[in-house]
Amino acid sequence: MTEELQAAYDTLLAAFGSQHWWPAESADEMIIGALLTQNTNWKNVEKALAGLRRQGSLSLAAIAELETETLAELIRPSGYFRQKAQRLRLLARSVLDAGGLPKLAEKPTPELRRWLLKLKGIGPETADSILLYAFERPVFVIDAYTLRIGSRHDWFAPATDYAAAQTFFTRHLPGDSALYNEFHALLVRVGKEFCRPKKPDCARCPLYSLYREPGPGRSTSRKSDV
Ligand code: SF4
Repeated sequence: MTEELQAAYDTLLAAFGSQHWWPAESADEMIIGALLTQNTNWKNVEKALAGLRRQGSLSLAAIAELETETLAELIRPSGYFRQKAQRLRLLARSVLDAGGLPKLAEKPTPELRRWLLKLKGIGPETADSILLYAFERPVFVIDAYTLRIGSRHDWFAPATDYAAAQTFFTRHLPGDSALYNEFHALLVRVGKEFCRPKKPDCARCPLYSLYREPGPGRSTSRKSDV
């Protein structure tokens, strides 16, 4: 399985090239974007980030000082803007209260992950995105694209949950944050462009050479491998 995953990574990298994630100019911007991208697409997040940038508020320190209503208006394009404003402000204040990002970066990864997950509105995917892309920790981010591609390729069962899918990748790949960074970004790309929920475009997909169509005699999952 390690070879199959490596082959998938190599194939995607050859097809798409490096994705240069996360698309942010600073750790602050990355963390803000990770929260804003919940339940919306990246185009809407870009509009919200541009609004914050125009106001000189694209930093955790600036966000911590904003009124919630003002922040909500600035991030309105990202959707769920009132809820996100509350959560973003809480996150910004919590980071500052903890001594800032450099102080948080002193924490071991499991402790830092627990700290993030205690914050309202930060679930495993957002916490792991922050750990990987802002703190460069070797934490594999799982999302709906990854779960769909992984189950279709029989890497794990269709109903595999977040934690089990993450264990699958970390068990079969070296603990390398640069590799996890690129692989996650490549899986998102193939998920968006080819591996759609309905009617996946396998014939044009770079991963087709590694795909075995379901059929008689082929097991539908490799549950024991997770
Ligand atoms: S579109 Fe087909 S070949 Fe591509 S990742 Fe999805 S299942 Fe695999």
